[in-house]
Amino acid sequence: MPGWESYLKEHRAEYVDQLMDFVRIPSISALSEHFVDVRRAAQWAADRLKAAGVNNARVIPTGEHALAYGEWLGAPGKPTFLLYGHLDVQPVDPLDLWTTPPFEPVIRDGRMYGRGASDDKSGVLLTIIAVEALLKTAGTLPVNVKFVLEGQEEVGSLGLADFVVANHDLLKCDAIINADGLQWSENQPALLVGLRGVCAADIGVLNASADLHSGLYGGAIANPLHALAELMASFHSPDGRIAVEGFYDDVVELSPEDKKRIDSIPFDESEYKARLGVDTLFGEPGYSTLERVGVRPTCEINGMWGGFQGEGMKTVLPKEAHAKITCRLVPNQEPAKILDLLEAHVKKHKPQGVKVAFHPGANQARPYLVPTDQPINKVTRDVLVEVYGKEPFFAWEGGSVPICDVFLRELGAYSISFGFILPDEQFHAPDEFFRLSSFERGQVAFCKLLERL
Ligand SMILES: [Zn+2]
Repeated sequence: MPGWESYLKEHRAEYVDQLMDFVRIPSISALSEHFVDVRRAAQWAADRLKAAGVNNARVIPTGEHALAYGEWLGAPGKPTFLLYGHLDVQPVDPLDLWTTPPFEPVIRDGRMYGRGASDDKSGVLLTIIAVEALLKTAGTLPVNVKFVLEGQEEVGSLGLADFVVANHDLLKCDAIINADGLQWSENQPALLVGLRGVCAADIGVLNASADLHSGLYGGAIANPLHALAELMASFHSPDGRIAVEGFYDDVVELSPEDKKRIDSIPFDESEYKARLGVDTLFGEPGYSTLERVGVRPTCEINGMWGGFQGEGMKTVLPKEAHAKITCRLVPNQEPAKILDLLEAHVKKHKPQGVKVAFHPGANQARPYLVPTDQPINKVTRDVLVEVYGKEPFFAWEGGSVPICDVFLRELGAYSISFGFILPDEQFHAPDEFFRLSSFERGQVAFCKLLERL
């Protein structure tokens, strides 16, 4: 038995306690009253890196937040891998839907419940534990490692992106191992090959200078809510295709090989519908559900508001109405170009009698692909096969991790996803939990990965 395996066993209970301590820090990066807690979580991680034997461990401010950095560069001539994870968490509301308080972690049925237990404090700790287990048993690592454990992933990683741009030398590496990642299920691994990009915009429809009495003025001027409904309906054709001119122009069609990979993933439509509580699936014609959520672009209205929403009736003719939209993008769509197309669409379809305003959002990410022939993909696959005893699915994930594209452009290094979060773990929602079995499996898998790199 290699030394690290017994080391992990000896420290199993201690590591669970450490994850609990980490989860107790309410590091919500979106809320200013918790910025100090994000800083505390970064300090916790830096201290933990130091204890693991990692050098130069420290907290580095990034805009209004901070990250924990550390390095072990004792393998000259060997490649360098950057271990990435995030120590900030999502807000916890609605609080009354939590069975136990989000920052008082508890273990029930082999699962640790608490905000961040799954996304992504477990991932952060897994990277540290693996490096510690190898360093404390072999006294060395087979490769060089750098840690970037950031504190603002849940708010778009903007400060981290600036930090990467300004610190090429510090962060120089051969590849990034992203511990903020998912497996397919408890007994099915997944190898991430693609992420969708994202862009966002706010749309306003404006008319009178104040809300008006609908009895005195109704019928004389256009109602912004009617106009907004008309405008938003123009974004899609009734069959589900996006009707924005030029939207699909740069989309790269799936290769027959990739299509085969997606088709080979079992998909149970009735189970899927039951899980979502829907009667019918609906989406762009000509594509399967897994294609629609992984490799096809979308345009979703995320919110629409205006006028009176209180109890009872109010005969008001509102002065304005608003909507928020986001698009998920696929290769080779550029967020800035898509925003231009959306703005042109809004101007062209402006309903009569109102003014429209279009505000592009700051959060953008390009779509991201890891070429499947990258050597690091092969190593990841081999480790997953060893740990799960089966071939991983090739997964195109519909979500976005903006920093992957930043790492590629700035450092010229690909990111692979190597995380042990499972899709049912309620991350971003009440009763988030992490399986202790995944925590143990992840420790072993990370050690094996470091050994094989
Ligand atoms: Zn995450």
